[in-house]
Amino acid sequence: MTSAAQIEKILSIIQKAGSKGIIQSELRKKLGISDKKFSKIVIQLEKKGLIKRERVLYKSRYTYRLIPVRPKDPLESIRNCPCFECPHIDECGIEASYDPRFCPLLDAWLFEEAKKLRYARER
Ligand code: SF4
Repeated sequence: MTSAAQIEKILSIIQKAGSKGIIQSELRKKLGISDKKFSKIVIQLEKKGLIKRERVLYKSRYTYRLIPVRPKDPLESIRNCPCFECPHIDECGIEASYDPRFCPLLDAWLFEEAKKLRYARER
């Protein structure tokens, strides 16, 4: 039986390996887990999008390199909003000196974001 702690430990080791990853067969041997059980765990982690597996030839045998997948940045979509670096942010508001309803910078950014979304949906 596979424990949550065991899965956590494996994931943590893979994450610590960083972008160079870690060889599946080496990690399995190091942890002393059966091949079948270990394969099940890494397939689960891959299905959850936490790691990716790349098939590699290692010591004349095929195995996988286990590479952590960086979690998606939840702020990614708003990271480039011009308001974050705007020198007028303190004076900006509805019917203030700078009004977001009529801001060309904000308009341009929203237009580009909408284009990206439309493009992503059409693919
Ligand atoms: S809406 Fe325009 S003026 Fe207002 S903070 Fe954003 S970029 Fe600056």
